[in-house]
Amino acid sequence: MAVYLNGQFMPLEEARVPVLDRGFMFGDGVYEVIPVYSRRPFRLAEHLKRLQHSLDGIRLTNPHTEAEWKRLIGELIARNEGEDQSLYLHITRGAAKRDHAFPEPPVPPTVFMMSNPLPAPSPELLQTGISAVTVVDNRWLRCDIKAIALLPNVLLRQAAVDAGCAEAILIRSGEGDGTAFLTEGAASNIFVVKDGALYAPPKDNLMLPGITYDVVLELAAANGIPCHVGRVMREAVFAADELLLTSSPREVQAITRLDGQPVGNGRPGPMFERLYALYQAYKRDVMRAAAD
Ligand code: PMP
Repeated sequence: MAVYLNGQFMPLEEARVPVLDRGFMFGDGVYEVIPVYSRRPFRLAEHLKRLQHSLDGIRLTNPHTEAEWKRLIGELIARNEGEDQSLYLHITRGAAKRDHAFPEPPVPPTVFMMSNPLPAPSPELLQTGISAVTVVDNRWLRCDIKAIALLPNVLLRQAAVDAGCAEAILIRSGEGDGTAFLTEGAASNIFVVKDGALYAPPKDNLMLPGITYDVVLELAAANGIPCHVGRVMREAVFAADELLLTSSPREVQAITRLDGQPVGNGRPGPMFERLYALYQAYKRDVMRAAAD
């Protein structure tokens, strides 16, 4: 596997960063995950835009122009095997004497990229859907930044794994008024389906603005599926006809069990089947257009 580190491509085993790197010390950095289909990065411009938003959020200068990123990403894809890949980009504030405040003068950032295989969703999973548990969203107030400091997400996802589930659905408490609402999954966005309409939490500071989330809302709007973007209360999650999960590696999945109970009739529903088919068709169209 060829990875990229600070200007050079090398085998993964040779990639080294200093222990004083602020990513290692403080989790002081941001990342992106970009799916590649048929050797073409999917929604690259959108991913690079979100990367810029994350960098702005942590006040770190983007080390590369968009053209440079595109060139480096193209080279990383070419140097790795597999038609479908999952690219990981990681930028930290670099290595400096340990001090919470930013290094002054600034030090060069650490830029790391790798590629992993991107397996197609398993047919079994499409038939049965996945199980999820609800957990309290105890993260900070800048969940719109794709920060490498993922300890809350790690613990929340592990709570799902401990319960034999594939994802944790995060529920945040309202402002002391006893209400609670859906934010997202530990590593995904979540949609509620009720009476043929799609309900999605808004892209605010409490969730990561998912690239797949955007694709699903665009496809729904283009195909006459009613969509409501706004606060989704906890009760609506439990009263859902269907629950859907989206993320770049998992695409669109049906959540068919929640906290040990069936969601709707416990099987992937018509909205899932429709959006899954639309998503696959969209992927094919985009890839074909890119090939022309
Ligand atoms: N929310 C969180 C917390 C995530 O980690 C992810 C996956 N990166 C998502 C949402 C989904 O984002 P995307 O569709 O861009 O993969």
